Amino acid sequence: MSGLISGNEISLSIYGELKERIAALRSKGTVPGLAVVLVGEDPASQVYVRMKGKKCEELGMHSVTIVVPADTSEKDLLKKVDELNNDSKIHGFLIQLPLPKHIDEDKVINAIDPKKDVDGFHPQNVGRMLIGDPMFLPATPAGVQQMLIRSNIDIAGKHVVIVGRSNIVGKPMAAMLMQKGKGADATVTVVHSRTKDIQEHTRRADILIVAIGKARFITKDMVKEGAVVIDVGTNRIDDPTTEKGSRLVGDVDFENVKNIASAITPVPGGVGPMTICMLMFNTVTAAERSIK
Ligand code: NAP
Repeated sequence: MSGLISGNEISLSIYGELKERIAALRSKGTVPGLAVVLVGEDPASQVYVRMKGKKCEELGMHSVTIVVPADTSEKDLLKKVDELNNDSKIHGFLIQLPLPKHIDEDKVINAIDPKKDVDGFHPQNVGRMLIGDPMFLPATPAGVQQMLIRSNIDIAGKHVVIVGRSNIVGKPMAAMLMQKGKGADATVTVVHSRTKDIQEHTRRADILIVAIGKARFITKDMVKEGAVVIDVGTNRIDDPTTEKGSRLVGDVDFENVKNIASAITPVPGGVGPMTICMLMFNTVTAAERSIK
């Protein structure tokens, strides 16, 4: 059995550090504030938004959830963004994605003040991340990087293979790990649905990071003995043996891959808790910057 990299445990230690930073801010009269805008009533999004609100409360942060109907016009949503840009109690906010089809996602993201863009999706923040001068790192890849650093996994000079090239996980993950400096300096390969012979690449990975959204896609024969495996995927599969009739699994066949990996993240309890944690980290950072 390999070493288990627990997002639950690592996020707890980061929350401990955040509590001290929040206490310091509160003693100066600033309560870090996070707003989440939810368009429509997608059940999965509602769960995430509730979790974010609960975590803010636990940490002593100010939290606002704004739910608008699914048929809200783009103009009205942009107005909401403008209000939040100008709300001094809100240091960071995000619009829960995906948005309904009649709203141009890029237009909405572009309207967010980059200083409050705690998701790190604004093109200005994406650009700053790419040139190695980040304002905010996007939460999921930042969480993965912290898991590696805090598990004392040496990244410098290692071959990292990332499966998936989405704007929220794969691409920023590659950009972050190829930077110069601590927690980076990797040689990075990115593979995706048009890659020929994915296995040929994944088998050469010292560190394999998977974010595709396909249940247990990465099997044992696709992983090098001793590799570190980070599973970002969250997929709900049928399981009649559970009370709910379903359960969450990752993009990696955990039960078999854990026997050859040197370290591996579970699903749930791996990358998921880190994502929310890094969102809180970004909000606290935004609040600190606001009083500088
Ligand atoms: P996405 O936007 O759907 O992108 C999926 C990526 O995977 C695409 O680049 C796609 O390639 C690639 N892909 C799909 N099928 C593939 C295949 N058979 N072989 C190789 N590449 C393939 O997904 P995402 O938003 O990055 O999310 C990926 C997974 O991570 C999902 O399960 C999501 O729920 C999970 N996730 C978890 C967290 C967390 O906090 N734990 C956060 C974000 C996402 P193309 O570009 O060629 O189409």
